[in-house]
Amino acid sequence: MATLQHQPKPAAAAPSTTTGGGLRAMDLYEKLEKVGEGTYGKVYKAREKATGRIVALKKTRLPEDDEGVPPTALREVSLLRMLSQDPHVVRLLDLKQGVNKEGQTILYLVFEYMDTDLKKFIRSHRANHEKIPALTVKILMYQLCKGVTFVHGRGVLHRDLKPHNLLMDRKTMALKIADLGLSRAVIAPLKKYTHEILTLWYRAPEVLLGATHYSTPVDMWSVGCIFAELVTNNPLFPGDSELQQLLHIFKLLGTPNEQVWPGVGKLPNWHEYPQWKPTKLSTLVPGLDADGYDLLGKMLEYEPTKRVCAKAALEHPYFNDVNKDLY
Ligand code: AMP
Repeated sequence: MATLQHQPKPAAAAPSTTTGGGLRAMDLYEKLEKVGEGTYGKVYKAREKATGRIVALKKTRLPEDDEGVPPTALREVSLLRMLSQDPHVVRLLDLKQGVNKEGQTILYLVFEYMDTDLKKFIRSHRANHEKIPALTVKILMYQLCKGVTFVHGRGVLHRDLKPHNLLMDRKTMALKIADLGLSRAVIAPLKKYTHEILTLWYRAPEVLLGATHYSTPVDMWSVGCIFAELVTNNPLFPGDSELQQLLHIFKLLGTPNEQVWPGVGKLPNWHEYPQWKPTKLSTLVPGLDADGYDLLGKMLEYEPTKRVCAKAALEHPYFNDVNKDLY
């Protein structure tokens, strides 16, 4: 039976093994506390015993068929390694493979440790009835657009950008994209997490309407939703089912039609919806300047091909006063 190590390609992706007498992940790292739960498993703060370095340890299970771990899974891991070279993508420091009691392949992903995420950052401001300063919003958005530019430039979609998987360093305000590129590599979820419900709030309308050929604009929609949330401390479209999610969007931005979005009526999940008129972004998201509204409007364009791409967003006048050498 083929194992992870016997896969001929890609060689660079093969995690160091823990079988055959090698050191187990738990011999190398001391788990300190659980810091979160993602789609693919639990995340622990841990200490690397040899160096004392604090890391984030993510335990996931790799899919297996009769041939062992499928090459598609390995390619995803390799992709994650490549993407983590960018300063705005959380850095993958190491990979450790192991086998659990049931004989299933376990993968430990060792990431640089980040002290918070955007969800917690927004929540702490909301709890204190504080707005996030306008320049902080801008700096975070700039880094997010930079990270997304890098990821899209490598032909990868994130598909699930949300405050929860944008990691941050409170001191430096560095923002890094997490939870990337593993969608086909690991079995999700490792176990049923009752308190972590799948969020639809950042999902693009074309995905909700059942489009099968969607692309990078789906991530830009999420970026727009995150932008609005950073400004108001509240999610822009907090839907709790796919239909409610669509209705939420339509109520605020107006029900789309063939004029604003040619072809919308042909999407698989299209129905006759109530007709809502759009509300001004300045009413929906109070607290931005004119450039900010212009950029937000471009991110929340209904027609995916008209939606601003991450690279173009970086050039938008909204970011003119960001010190681009720093980020
Ligand atoms: P994820 O599975 O990447 O969505 O992570 C789930 C949660 O675990 C995040 O929202 C963070 O709170 C935490 N987390 C993930 N990666 C890290 C990391 N590198 N450093 C610190 N916390 C992390």
